[in-house]
Amino acid sequence: MLHDITPRITSELKVFPGDTPPSREVLLDIDRGDHITLSTLRGTVHLGAHVDAPSHYTPGGDSIEAFPLDRVLGPCQVVDVSGAIIETEEGRLVVSGPWIEGLETPRVLLRTGTHPDPDRWSEDFAGLSAPLVEELAERGVLLVGIDTPSVDPPSSKALPAHQAFARTGVSILEGITLAAVPEGRYELIALPLPLEGFDASPVRAVLREVSS
Ligand SMILES: [Zn+2]
Repeated sequence: MLHDITPRITSELKVFPGDTPPSREVLLDIDRGDHITLSTLRGTVHLGAHVDAPSHYTPGGDSIEAFPLDRVLGPCQVVDVSGAIIETEEGRLVVSGPWIEGLETPRVLLRTGTHPDPDRWSEDFAGLSAPLVEELAERGVLLVGIDTPSVDPPSSKALPAHQAFARTGVSILEGITLAAVPEGRYELIALPLPLEGFDASPVRAVLREVSS
């Protein structure tokens, strides 16, 4: 059985303030008598479920065509961290890590529940702390996925979590929808397009149930 953890891409899908929402320009339309339907997509590459390239957050980082696909293909674990969210001194919401002891896979998908509707922008979603990213890296985690638009809370310009991902080389999958997925182990499939020079790519992220 497959769980689709990709939000639907519509003109309603919310992107970071200032980023480009998705839109469709119809060049030809069978229903208007054209011989085919043909349309152009315009929008940020950080669209819905997407993988960030290191070039998005670190100088000289690889762009998305060089992304190692084995990061987003293989055993993963969905963990509900909604009970592990704390507020920092600066008033930012971050995930803390008591659940780390139960990790068994090199990919972990975190359900914070703090950005429940991809079509409604809200500023108060939870991110990750730099020490948490470093601890995950020490435990051999290669990829962290999160059900929010970013691993850093939106008010943060310093991007401490992204910087920790840059230091450790752990990869980032953002914008997935995990509300309907039970905790546990799955096979993750979330391949980015080889968009040369780009800083991210949308993915169709799915979880395949594994027999235990
Ligand atoms: Zn992103």
